[in-house]
Amino acid sequence: MTDGGGSSRPERIVLASANRAKAVELAEILGSAGLGVELLPRPSDVPEVVEDAPDFVGNARLKAHALRDATGEWALADDSGLEVDALDGAPGVHSARFAGEPSDDAANVALLLQRLHSVGAVSPSQRSARFRCVIVLAAPDGRELVAEGVVEGRIIDRPTGDGGFGYDPVFVPTEGDGRTFALMSPSEKHAVSHRGRALRALADRLR
Ligand code: IMP
Repeated sequence: MTDGGGSSRPERIVLASANRAKAVELAEILGSAGLGVELLPRPSDVPEVVEDAPDFVGNARLKAHALRDATGEWALADDSGLEVDALDGAPGVHSARFAGEPSDDAANVALLLQRLHSVGAVSPSQRSARFRCVIVLAAPDGRELVAEGVVEGRIIDRPTGDGGFGYDPVFVPTEGDGRTFALMSPSEKHAVSHRGRALRALADRLR
């Protein structure tokens, strides 16, 4: 990223997520991509925005721009979710609250498996899916950088593994050894995950 006056590369970035685990994950991935940058959590006086855009990039943009406007700092937001082919791309942007409010990982997974059965998607070939992550980095001067990452895989019927979060216990990435994301270490997951890929793409473009 270049510009005509201000800093073209951020020294510190405010994160739209107040989730510490996510901040640690982002710092690890950016650090190992050779981009040392100070990451700050969303200040407590900046409210969360309503994520009502129809797609991932729209929601990430809403969050990044609101935070940049509130703080005057470089602001980073991501939005991600699971797209299942047999369900025409659902749960998609509704992944976090697929089974309703409040967000409940076990209920979301149970509903996903139930929907797959009700459309007759039982064989592995009918269960293709992908995680998608879009990251928007908004600069104080109004520019923005958008990066996307995707990991292809399939949905299995029996939740397996205790790691990760969300749909990890039923998602088996294509580029793996048959284990679900929930059975992988964080570094194994980051190496192929949608979020890891999106962040590395962002780091490449900032370098
Ligand atoms: P967020 O945009 O990162 O908050 O993710 C929205 C929702 O998508 C989460 O609540 C999960 O249900 C799902 N999701 C996103 N990334 C992952 C992942 O890496 N593993 C499992 N579920 C995920």
